[in-house]
Amino acid sequence: MALTILKGTIVSAPSLGRLDSMEDGFLVAEDGRITGVYLVLPERFSGAPVTDCGGDLIVPSFADLHLHAPQYPMLGMGMDLPLLEWLEAYAFPTEARFADLDYARTVYRRLAAELIRHGTTRVCMFSSLHTDATLVLMEELERAGVTGYVGKVNMDRNSAPGLLEETTEQSKRETLRWLDACGDFRRVHPMLTPRFTPSCTNGLLAFLGKLAKERGLPVQSHLSENSAEMDWVRQLHPDCAQYWQTYAKYGLWNDRTVMAHCVWSDERERAAMRDAGVTVVHCANSNQNICSGVAPVRVMLDEGLQVALGSDIAGGDQLDMFDVVASSIRASKARRMMDGWQTAFLTVAEAWFLGTSAGAAFFGAKPGFAPGNPLHAMVIRDSGLPQPHPLTAAQRLERAVYRRQSDAVRAVWSEGRQVFSAEQP
Ligand SMILES: [Zn+2]
Repeated sequence: MALTILKGTIVSAPSLGRLDSMEDGFLVAEDGRITGVYLVLPERFSGAPVTDCGGDLIVPSFADLHLHAPQYPMLGMGMDLPLLEWLEAYAFPTEARFADLDYARTVYRRLAAELIRHGTTRVCMFSSLHTDATLVLMEELERAGVTGYVGKVNMDRNSAPGLLEETTEQSKRETLRWLDACGDFRRVHPMLTPRFTPSCTNGLLAFLGKLAKERGLPVQSHLSENSAEMDWVRQLHPDCAQYWQTYAKYGLWNDRTVMAHCVWSDERERAAMRDAGVTVVHCANSNQNICSGVAPVRVMLDEGLQVALGSDIAGGDQLDMFDVVASSIRASKARRMMDGWQTAFLTVAEAWFLGTSAGAAFFGAKPGFAPGNPLHAMVIRDSGLPQPHPLTAAQRLERAVYRRQSDAVRAVWSEGRQVFSAEQP
């Protein structure tokens, strides 16, 4: 049996708003699954090798539930347009480059390595419409140790003619070819990915809904991100009173559905998400960068919706989920100021829960370091920061969110395997 025992200051979020911590604790995983967190190592493990992390923090690794892999080359650029113009001017031309498989290999290898170095081990990720580049992306994620879901994007209308486009028949055929080729992956799995309603004909949405049902596939897309987008959806689907219904009517709306943004989802749309068990992905950086708005995350949580976090690169400017956690807190404070100080902002413990436990829940994990979970963890060092007086584990975690030393992430485990060590060259 493979045994992993990590010793250090163990911190996790077992529920929204709560942080559990244990100094000089032991986190034990057997055959890649967590069996317990102990202050005193049980007798049966005596003599077993222990990875002593000293005073470093041992925390669950991140789940990034919304990001666009082929927008990685434009990360940190092109933030001067709202969504629909931004797609045409920046996103579509950048994604078009992924017809070139050598380019895809170079970019995706680097992206996968950067995700792991920043402690992101679970993703729901958009590829481009290119089948072969999507397979390259899945290979590179699996090689690096990133787990989760990837989608070949479907977009058979309103795309970029001559640059980035597919017909309905091509989109269907390529989706089937892609799914046939996904069988060899062990830790990265396919997720159906209609780009967003304006990008897909009704026939394509119906095809994807049928496929989701027949093959039990999860679905990801965008919802109510920007007011111009929502007006467009209303024009395209006059029979649907609300945006979410354009997905629901084609069978793309259930508890295996992930919807990014939901900035402008009103009470009725939020109820539809809660009742169906749809996971909302809050993308605070992107919402601000391309002037989409400030999502009412506190209200969503109070209403019982499942909310996780997404970097949404490259509308988002940071791949690092520490920054995404911090920006989610800032966005919630902006929302509080906009709401006449009526709604509470997210605490660090709450935002940390959303970035780790809430995202992991989509993959079937229980919150925090619960026994039975596959080991997804990272070690964070802060000994390079000023330590004028002793800090609690919660204070140290807060400081890691807002201010990290450059080499803070020392080691990462994903699905039971160590996939990164800063100690090795
Ligand atoms: Zn997106």
